[in-house]
Amino acid sequence: MSAEANYLLLSPEHKYPRCFCTEEEIIMAKRIREFVDKEVLPNRQNLEGGWHRDEELAHKTLFELYYKCHQLGLTISNLPSEYGGLALSPIVRYMINEELSRGDVGLATLVGKTHWIVSFMYNRVQVREDLLEEFAPKLTGNVPYISCVNISEPEGGANIEDPALELRTLNTVIVKKEGDFWVLNGHKIWPGPAGDPSYWDKWHEKWPDKFAGHLGYWVVVTEDPSRGEDAAGMVYHPYNAEGVKFGLPYKKCGFCWTDENVEIWYENVKVPAKYRVDVKPGNGAKIIHGYVIGAGRLAAAARLTGIATACLEIALEWTKNRQIAGKPVRERSYFASILADMYRMVDLARQYYLSVTWQLMHPEIYGELWEPHMTAKFSTARSFAGEAAMFCANKAMELMGSYGYVFEMDLEKYYRDFKIVQMWLGGAQRDRLDIAQGLYGPFKWAGYEEWLKARWPKKFANPTNIIEKEIDKTLNRASGSEREAERIRKELNKDKEYDIDEAMKG
Ligand SMILES: Cc1cc2nc3c(=O)[nH]c(=O)nc-3n(C[C@H](O)[C@H](O)[C@H](O)COP(=O)(O)OP(=O)(O)OC[C@H]3O[C@@H](n4cnc5c(N)ncnc54)[C@H](O)[C@@H]3O)c2cc1C
Repeated sequence: MSAEANYLLLSPEHKYPRCFCTEEEIIMAKRIREFVDKEVLPNRQNLEGGWHRDEELAHKTLFELYYKCHQLGLTISNLPSEYGGLALSPIVRYMINEELSRGDVGLATLVGKTHWIVSFMYNRVQVREDLLEEFAPKLTGNVPYISCVNISEPEGGANIEDPALELRTLNTVIVKKEGDFWVLNGHKIWPGPAGDPSYWDKWHEKWPDKFAGHLGYWVVVTEDPSRGEDAAGMVYHPYNAEGVKFGLPYKKCGFCWTDENVEIWYENVKVPAKYRVDVKPGNGAKIIHGYVIGAGRLAAAARLTGIATACLEIALEWTKNRQIAGKPVRERSYFASILADMYRMVDLARQYYLSVTWQLMHPEIYGELWEPHMTAKFSTARSFAGEAAMFCANKAMELMGSYGYVFEMDLEKYYRDFKIVQMWLGGAQRDRLDIAQGLYGPFKWAGYEEWLKARWPKKFANPTNIIEKEIDKTLNRASGSEREAERIRKELNKDKEYDIDEAMKG
């Protein structure tokens, strides 16, 4: 059975409306769809290593398909043209995610990671020309690299993504300046694709014309968790940096080989100063909220829509061919109404994520993507698309009976894959809470102030310290550099001590 069926309502011309995209962008979506039909759909189970999860088959298939995506320009769609990229719009970025996920969401995620890291270096907060110049030759080379973004930590990934906690739980990776280096210590969990350098060298040596290797890790860090958003940031380190230790890949429900997730330990890892991506206090938080989390959730919305579409297509084909008393089952009302419900969910998920993407492209009207009301929209897009994917995978399986459950029908793969896309970057519940924050926030969770006082008693034990915290924030923003802020802070402290001494004398 094939899922390559042509349904007018599911064709790029009809699903990507002209209010959000140009004719050229729709043609691009058609080309990607053709690529997926021809190359990805027949190989979607091989990306998992087939029925036996064969490691070599999975990697061979993955690197060949990733290479083809790269040849099509999909990996460099958002890289600015001055660095050799295609400089295509965010609409195309998310169409790529949707169309590839219709074939395999692991492949889409790998391609999406490259968009993701480019967005950390080139965005509305800052542009890191030096880093783009350094990485662009690798990103645009003939053979592609893969990359990874490290966010989650043992104390809870979802807490890092919670705006109400102000990035203060981000405490497993701490950085301190030492000469021309930052020194990294800490512990991340779940980043992917990640692993010991020798693992990636092995695949590169086996297929050097398809896979260039691992480009490295973009790591969400903090200088001092007690300082919250002002101290949060991001550093890059190469895949084989000294002092980095990797665990073995987790065994999991889906994404078996397409996204190998491991634990990472940092022990006094020296990172050259230029690899601190954010350049001034506050920029790191904007990049994390806007480009890591916000744009990441929007990509997840597009991927979930692609998964939901694949499930709908499989169900449409199956119910066309399965008959009851001489009639295709899809012409019977029970089946028809469920298929119609699936279409409703899929198309609404798509129209909404496209609308939010269009809004993201017009910050002069809608605001910046790191602002809470935009986070709410990204979270609405992801959570709704998650429900669309869940509904379609579940209902398609029910309509197909036991056949939906078997390996050969491919549906079980989407059934396993959608769940984590709904949950990563903060969990399915996080989306709801961020929507509430954007709708009527900001607000702090009950117990937050007590937690601050218990964790950093010197800093938060009394109201004076809360005022100092606010002064700190203003200083960091207004002074332009850490060093200048520190200088002014010292002057203020001296004045304060002098005043106290004088008062004591009196
Ligand atoms: C295949 C896969 C790929 C991944 N890729 C990456 C990656 O590339 N990089 C990376 O950094 N991480 C990655 N992750 C990790 C993933 O993003 C996290 O697991 C996820 O964000 C949730 O964090 P957690 O598992 O620590 O759950 P927790 O933080 O423990 O959350 C568990 C549940 O509690 C809810 N919750 C948490 N806090 C609150 C609260 N304050 N109020 C109400 N509810 C709350 C959450 O919504 C969630 O439902 C990946 C995971 C998988 C499985």
